[in-house]
Amino acid sequence: MSSLPIPSALDARTQTFPVLMEPQINRVRSSGKLRQVKNGEILFEPGDTNVPFFVVLSGRIEIVQSDLAGEHLIATLGPGEFTGEMTMISGRRYLVLGRVTETGELLELTEDGLRSLVAKDAELSEIFMRAFILRRLALISHGYGNLILLGSRHSANTLRLREFLTRNGHPHTYVDLDRDKSSQELLDRFELKLDEIPVVICQAHAVLRNPTIQELADYLGLNSAIDETQVRDLIIVGAGPSGLAAGVYAGSEGLNVLLIETASPGGQAGSSSKIENYLGFPMGISGQELAARAIAQAEKFGAQMIVAHSVERLECEKRPYKVRLDNGDRLAARAIVIATGAQYKKPHLANLEKFEGQGIYYGATFMESQLCEQGEVVVVGGGNSAGQAAVFLSATAPKVYMLVRSSELSSTMSRYLVQRIEANPAIELHFKTEIVGLEGGRHLERITWQDKTSGETSTHEIRHLFIMAGASPRTEWLRGCVALDEKGFILTGQDLEREAEASGWTQARSPYMLETSLPGVFAVGDVRSGNVKRVASAVGEGAIAIHLVHRALAEL
Ligand SMILES: Cc1cc2nc3c(=O)[nH]c(=O)nc-3n(C[C@H](O)[C@H](O)[C@H](O)COP(=O)(O)OP(=O)(O)OC[C@H]3O[C@@H](n4cnc5c(N)ncnc54)[C@H](O)[C@@H]3O)c2cc1C
Repeated sequence: MSSLPIPSALDARTQTFPVLMEPQINRVRSSGKLRQVKNGEILFEPGDTNVPFFVVLSGRIEIVQSDLAGEHLIATLGPGEFTGEMTMISGRRYLVLGRVTETGELLELTEDGLRSLVAKDAELSEIFMRAFILRRLALISHGYGNLILLGSRHSANTLRLREFLTRNGHPHTYVDLDRDKSSQELLDRFELKLDEIPVVICQAHAVLRNPTIQELADYLGLNSAIDETQVRDLIIVGAGPSGLAAGVYAGSEGLNVLLIETASPGGQAGSSSKIENYLGFPMGISGQELAARAIAQAEKFGAQMIVAHSVERLECEKRPYKVRLDNGDRLAARAIVIATGAQYKKPHLANLEKFEGQGIYYGATFMESQLCEQGEVVVVGGGNSAGQAAVFLSATAPKVYMLVRSSELSSTMSRYLVQRIEANPAIELHFKTEIVGLEGGRHLERITWQDKTSGETSTHEIRHLFIMAGASPRTEWLRGCVALDEKGFILTGQDLEREAEASGWTQARSPYMLETSLPGVFAVGDVRSGNVKRVASAVGEGAIAIHLVHRALAEL
């Protein structure tokens, strides 16, 4: 067998392409059927959906992928080996081609057959899931995804598309037009103009010019496996940590569940370079990695996901409730979990929107830090996320100016972060300080801030500004459906009872913990009034909500 070079040890290689033993094959046999195949036969191609799962009994299959340079051999599978990667679980379109290279016999299982086998056989489930995840990681690390993104660091949409592909775990190759000398050849070959940047080239021939993330998601068929006509048990709006946790528990407890996410799964946590206080990860874990694991886990249990589409309205007049998407689709469910989190308030500053993605960022991950080119940076905010961003950026930036509106760091900032900030010579703290001006051409070039105590203003040649202050809840789509607190966060459980009259609770029973003023609709994570704004509490609430969803469904 030849396979992709997986970076770690031989062990990882055997886990990526394991060989099943006879008793294991026999257990697969009971869920599938035999299929005779001939040399040269194509079993599946990139773009296919509903691809069966194959175990090789005799003969050989090769897995290949084509790009502009031709075909790459990804693996050759012999007796006891099996096909498949994460698309097998997610139901999304296949990324690779499978071709028989030696006549033989295969065991064939439908996607549903594989799902029910995985649900009842823990040992096979572990072998398949591990292999599927490792194969996807190998495709990502080698950029084998049938997709090339030609972009520039001077374009905000490039950053958006890179983030979208990365956070959705879609393998792709990124070509930086500012640095890659051979890129002119690609531009000429596809007759591309500079004002059409970023460009996505799919399957080595289709070209999308400056697409939105919705256009890209739709083109890649990321949402094509979704049946819009079903009334589901549960729809979860938002796929940050709280929504993903709810998805994992709902799927694992047999609910028919759909998650809907405006951008990419992971939420705010996905824009965190390293989460160090989440239980079980003593060395810390990046938000992206945590999200990738959670997505795989949710999909493993059968949760479905729509990405790059927003819920614009909750139709709450009667049950089943319906959510209306930005493309007009209306999806029904007997229960809803609201997990839409919060977003940073944008300060009222001239030029703010002009420089978004071109010097102004709302997340600090490896991708944004690369754009800073080791220049000085400014971080606005005095809470946990600003603190974490300042510490992360200080590893590459010669100086990080941390501007805090109040006279001290937030009392909710984790102690370890306060200590790291205070001890870090590269971080310069400015209390009672606010930005008053942003200037530049296409990109941010100068930032002016004012010391509110002395009234003094100063202008600095700094090209990168990270805004991480003042979260406001994302509840605009709920207009009038559920009771909110004075800041717009969703009231739940006992808080509703305290404000019984105003909340509009109509049932004879008391609202369940996490239940909103609308029976069967729950709110979890940062969007909920009283939530403590941490990954762990978001995940915990997502899990608890499912226990309560069962109770609400039993009442129908
Ligand atoms: C940079 C940064 C670092 C952080 N570091 C830490 C840390 O180290 N430790 C810690 O415990 N916490 C940390 N936090 C806080 C933590 O990330 C949040 O508490 C957590 O992400 C909240 O999860 P959530 O699922 O409730 O909401 P979010 O993570 O905000 O997710 C909400 C999701 O809903 C989606 N959405 C919103 N509206 C709609 C709609 N109408 N339709 C569909 N989808 C929608 C959004 O796109 C988003 O993906 C950090 C936050 C940031 C920004």
